[in-house]
Amino acid sequence: TEASPKEDDYHNIIKNTEKAIGESTKHEFQAETRMLLDIVARSLYSDKEVFIRELISNASDALEKFRYMKVSGEEKAAKLKEDDRPLEIHISTDKHSRTLTIQDTGIGMTKEELVSNLGVIAKSGSKAFLEELKSQQSGGDNNIIGQFGVGFYSSFMVADKVEVYSRAVGEKQGYKWTSDGTGTYEIQPAEGVQFGTKIVLHLKMDCREFADEDTIKNVINKYSNFVGSPLYLNGKKA
Ligand code: ADP
Ligand code: MG
Repeated sequence: TEASPKEDDYHNIIKNTEKAIGESTKHEFQAETRMLLDIVARSLYSDKEVFIRELISNASDALEKFRYMKVSGEEKAAKLKEDDRPLEIHISTDKHSRTLTIQDTGIGMTKEELVSNLGVIAKSGSKAFLEELKSQQSGGDNNIIGQFGVGFYSSFMVADKVEVYSRAVGEKQGYKWTSDGTGTYEIQPAEGVQFGTKIVLHLKMDCREFADEDTIKNVINKYSNFVGSPLYLNGKKA
C-alpha cells in the first residue's frame, strides 16, 4: 500500500471542478494585442521559460491585492475578514494531457476584468515592447521579448490554447476565458470555479517539456525566493 502523503508537504492539489455553462460570447482582441500575440506566438525566442515567471508574478500580485483588500477598510473588508482561504499558488504538470496549470487564491477577475485585463494591453512593458518593435526592422523581436517581458501574453509562446478560470472576490459567478491566441477569445460562465484564478496552458508539441515536473521545478527554483506567497508544485512545497 502507498504511504499517504503528509498534509504539510502534500497540499491542496488542483482539482478539476469547473464546468462551463450557458452562453459563450466571442470577443476580438484589441488590434495592438493581436499584433503582440502574433509576434509572441511565432517567436523563435529561445528563453521561453520566462512565461513561468510572468504567470507566477501575476498570481503573486493577485494574492497581494487580495491581502490589501482585506485590510484596506473597504466596505467589502468586513465580510472578507471571515474569508480565511489559504493564500497560495499551485502549479501542476500533466504530461499525459500535455498541460501546465497555475492556480492562485487571489483577487480573481470579474467578466469585465477578464475583458479589460486580458483583451487589452495596458501594461507598460507590453506597450514599450510594441514601440520598440515599430522602431526596429522586422525580425528583431527575439531580444525584446526578454527585455520587456510580455506578461500574460507570454503564455502563447508555449501554448496553442489557454484557458483562464476566474472568480472575483465576493462574486457568485465564475467565468471561463479561452483563446488560441489568434485574434479572438471567448468568455463563458462556469460552475465550480474557485475563488481566484486558474490558468491552464495546453502546450505546443515542441514545448511539451513544460509539462514535466522536473523542468518546472528547475525554473521555479531560479526565482521562487522572490515570491511572497507559498508555492506548491504538484502538491509539494516548492
Ligand atoms: P501586468 O502584470 O504587468 O499588469 P500582465 O499581462 O502580466 O501585465 O497581466 C495583465 C493583467 O491581467 C494584470 O494587470 C491583472 O489585472 C490581470 N491578471 C493576470 N493574471 C492574473 C491573476 N492570476 N489574477 C488576477 N488578475 C490577473
Ligand atoms: Mg504580469
